[in-house]
Amino acid sequence: MTGHAIVVGAGIGGLATAVALRRIGWRATVLERAPALGEIGAGMSQAPNALRALDELGVGEQARATGVPSYSAGNLRLPDGRYLQRARRGDPTPMLAFHRADLHGLLLQAVPTGWVRTGTEVTGLRQDDRGVTVTWDGGEASADLVIGADGIRSAVRRALWPDAPPPRFLGRTAWLGVTDVSAVPGGSATSPGDHPTPPGGLDGSVTMGPGSYFLIHPVSRGRAYWAFVTPADRPDLRYEREKAEVAGRVAAWHRPIPDLVAATPAQAVIHIDIRDLDPLPTYVRGRVALLGDAAHAMSPDRGQGAGQSIEDAVVLAAALHAGPGIEAALGRYDAERRPRTQATARGARADGHRTTSAAAHRALVTMIRLMPAPLWRKGITADGNATWRWRPPRLPEPTTLA
Ligand SMILES: Cc1cc2nc3c(=O)[nH]c(=O)nc-3n(C[C@H](O)[C@H](O)[C@H](O)COP(=O)(O)OP(=O)(O)OC[C@H]3O[C@@H](n4cnc5c(N)ncnc54)[C@H](O)[C@@H]3O)c2cc1C
Repeated sequence: MTGHAIVVGAGIGGLATAVALRRIGWRATVLERAPALGEIGAGMSQAPNALRALDELGVGEQARATGVPSYSAGNLRLPDGRYLQRARRGDPTPMLAFHRADLHGLLLQAVPTGWVRTGTEVTGLRQDDRGVTVTWDGGEASADLVIGADGIRSAVRRALWPDAPPPRFLGRTAWLGVTDVSAVPGGSATSPGDHPTPPGGLDGSVTMGPGSYFLIHPVSRGRAYWAFVTPADRPDLRYEREKAEVAGRVAAWHRPIPDLVAATPAQAVIHIDIRDLDPLPTYVRGRVALLGDAAHAMSPDRGQGAGQSIEDAVVLAAALHAGPGIEAALGRYDAERRPRTQATARGARADGHRTTSAAAHRALVTMIRLMPAPLWRKGITADGNATWRWRPPRLPEPTTLA
């Protein structure tokens, strides 16, 4: 079965979907409201499940060449610098860290020229037995199928799931940044692990304060991504000097944390509130399917949001390829993806609560401290982590395309 799909949104989920559709011989039109696609966002990690999905899209090799191994799950610290767990030479590091723009960029390169149309904000949608039409200011387009990959505030979800609750504020806020490690004093001396240091010399780690945590990932071209996540009474609280605000909050934390914040240009510090979506009863209505954050935006605590959207894309394309019709394929997509993504979102919400509530934090720190190092390490290997064990369905090789 082949056809034409409209994908709403050119984020990581939307682009992964376009690449997956290309692999099964479909055409896609990707509509993106931003006037241009560029260097937006900060960093993220991808675990083995997402890397396998990227392999099915034919971009796994580029992803492995771009991503930087991160020992963040192996180096757990307290704000005074002590280690709860520490990575050692030879430890497995199945997790790769990326600047979001790098991962987005390599997917964009795999999308055929002319498929992405920017500056197009979808505002309406109607469907009948033969297809779906989406509308925007001054235009419309029709296709056999529409995929809403338009993020946590999805217009497609609001149009077809009008009763679904809006994104839920999880009582936490985060500051993020990416900076050159060479600008961090003593950058190459700050590697906490006893193993070869990544380019730039800064290693991944998570430092767990009472109720807050600070994450570091090395990313490409000698840069480091950092994120500080902390409780907030209400959403949308913004500060005139965001960098000074976060710098003040981590001033007494171990090095290189204050140095990393200090070395980040003020305009590159991003402040966001943490929200997720309550589970939807279905991701499919007729010939419209939701994918990525539009379907299951989740708390970042398991580093899985974008990875799950890439998985979604592969499963959707495999279902369409197998046929026999669009409705049957979408039914299988929904049945396969909803349990996994909603369980992951539930787990991420619970993890977030554990790391940012002071009482739960104490229990977690005690648990990590008491856990024998080999047992901890096993949990962060590709096979020791249930979410990471996922295997994608196979998509056809490009040579078999019509
Ligand atoms: C602090 C933080 C850390 C994270 N860390 C990780 C991590 O380590 N690993 C991981 O896998 N995930 C992580 N995530 C989650 C990840 O960023 C998201 O899950 C992922 O980017 C979602 O991709 P998406 O394509 O579904 O949505 P988006 O990236 O939101 O893309 C949606 C696109 O749709 C466009 N759009 C919106 N409305 C319309 C419209 N009406 N018409 C046309 N276009 C529209 C938008 O402009 C945008 O380009 C993190 C998230 C946060 C907040």
